[in-house]
Amino acid sequence: MTSNEIEKSNCIFCNIVNKLESTEILYEDEDVCVFRDIKPASDFHILTIPKRHIEDAKALTTADKNLVNKLESTEILYEDEDVCVFRDIKPASDFHILTIPKRHIEDAKALTTADKNLVDRMLCVAKEQLAKNNLSVDDARFGYHWPPFRSVRHLHLHTIAPESKMGLISRIIFKKDSYWFVSPDYVDSRLC
Ligand SMILES: [Zn+2]
Ligand SMILES: [Zn+2]
Repeated sequence: MTSNEIEKSNCIFCNIVNKLESTEILYEDEDVCVFRDIKPASDFHILTIPKRHIEDAKALTTADKNLVNKLESTEILYEDEDVCVFRDIKPASDFHILTIPKRHIEDAKALTTADKNLVDRMLCVAKEQLAKNNLSVDDARFGYHWPPFRSVRHLHLHTIAPESKMGLISRIIFKKDSYWFVSPDYVDSRLC
């Protein structure tokens, strides 16, 4: 364990945003170990090494390639001073992204009137990502978990598209204006 461990948050989303996981072991099994490059060549740059000493890349197997592809699902799609966007690891349709504030906010209920610009910005960024991927805003579902129903305790806006392709289970998990999943409009209305 390194001293970096101490500065890290318990919140995985905060760590993604703050790039504090550069030395974190992302994946480890009996054969390989995966971690982020300390000097990334792009937003996402990981190193996959075999635990056993192997001289060069010739030794990499198809299994390692699949692993790398899987880990690329946490690639940062967009970021600015305030927000950050990445793909949901369990997509509910063809396109499923999470837009989060860089500052740690527990959930939608914890938002105050001072955060109004922030949530407006989050929705705007999410819509830009849809447009960038030629997806319609009209066939997309947007929403926030409402406590106590949430997986990660860091505010995140779900954007799922096309909405029409969502499966039955996903439609329940991300049910429009339910008491566990609320729309950006509802969140906005509480901040006025
Ligand atoms: Zn956080
Ligand atoms: Zn979520």
